[in-house]
Amino acid sequence: MNTPQLPSYLSKENIGPWHIFLQQVEQVAPLLDQSLWPWVDTLRHPKRSLIVDVPIRRDNGVVEHFEGYRVHHNTSRGPGKGGIRFHQDVTLSEVMALAGWMTIKNAVVNVPFGGAKGGVRVDPRQLSLSELEGLTRRYTSEISAMIGPDKDIPAPDMNTNAQVMAWMMDTYSMGEGRTVTGVVTGKPVSLGGSLGRSDATGRGVFVTAREAGRRLNVPIEGARVIVQGFGNVGEASARIFAQNGARVIAIQDVSGTVVNEAGLDVVALKAYLTEHKTLLGAPGTETISNDDFWAIPCDFLVPAALESQINRYNAERIAARIVVEGANGPTTPEADVILAERGIVVVPDVLANAGGVTVSYFEWVQDFSSFFWTEDEIYSRLERIMSEAFNAIWQMAADRKMPLRSAAFVIGCSRVLEARAIRGLYP
Ligand code: GLU
Repeated sequence: MNTPQLPSYLSKENIGPWHIFLQQVEQVAPLLDQSLWPWVDTLRHPKRSLIVDVPIRRDNGVVEHFEGYRVHHNTSRGPGKGGIRFHQDVTLSEVMALAGWMTIKNAVVNVPFGGAKGGVRVDPRQLSLSELEGLTRRYTSEISAMIGPDKDIPAPDMNTNAQVMAWMMDTYSMGEGRTVTGVVTGKPVSLGGSLGRSDATGRGVFVTAREAGRRLNVPIEGARVIVQGFGNVGEASARIFAQNGARVIAIQDVSGTVVNEAGLDVVALKAYLTEHKTLLGAPGTETISNDDFWAIPCDFLVPAALESQINRYNAERIAARIVVEGANGPTTPEADVILAERGIVVVPDVLANAGGVTVSYFEWVQDFSSFFWTEDEIYSRLERIMSEAFNAIWQMAADRKMPLRSAAFVIGCSRVLEARAIRGLYP
């Protein structure tokens, strides 16, 4: 999976994803019911964080060490839940933030999970398949005390996929002496995975975009769409937009930015990327600079790559009507303010990309009952959960005159802190 890098000018000044999460909590705290104020501090303190050493033997015989993490941000509403990211820039701060966003996200769509996240600081493109398997297995073994089907359930995230989940499930199962399919979600369908899981995040992005468009009079049919990121989330979002009559004008990934004013052929572009490992040069496309991507006039902009991609350096130039956050944390708080001033509506990550974890929840339920649903059942339940969550957030934003992100945080944080308060303090 290809993902654009955080520009170097950002890393110098970037306050870091965990501090962005803290700022978001700060902003929402006064908006919560006063009875919850004594518990807000809970959100500022991840429940537990583990740093592990992941040594692997490279194909040339040399042993190399990588750093891995697993963070449980909050488990008040249920077991930890959240993906595993393999990326050369992964840090503990990033994993803490991603775990925090999972806490809010799971509460926003009201699935019975807390928030967790994991990652390994590695560039998986530099590993052979057997090295990747070794890394996955050793990492799983190192975090095995943290995970379990009723404790914490990992899933795919950036640069991890169904095969990585199969290795994780197998490694955990070997330790337990029995097959435990429910320890991870996003598995292959042949191993207890759910139909519809691989497209679920992209489908959820589309559903929330469509709902926002309905209310703002921006129909999907004929809409101009630009997408940053062409991995699991970006590719599925772009494809589903196109299937529903939108025109996907531009796509950016690590290789660069391609455009076609008449609309890109998303399926052909994916096939081209698989074959050539780059988007550049694909038939029927022109290349523009990564910087110019942001200024393309469009109806929907879908950031589906890394954090902090929409920031104070480009927010003024964004010419979208609606931003739908396929990625986690793609918009900095500063950029949020700029976009709001310019009348650009942001459908926040904790809602827009929650389709993935929602179908992960379906997978977990199916594994427990060993009874599997049809794709139609999955999609109609996903559709219902996503549109109900969207409705509740839209309504609150309208009633209390706040941005959608604040409304989503009010709903999510309230659910988490109500559970926290009623459970009380141990011992
Ligand atoms: N990694 C995805 C996310 O950020 C999915 C997590 C899950 O399914 O547990 O929401």
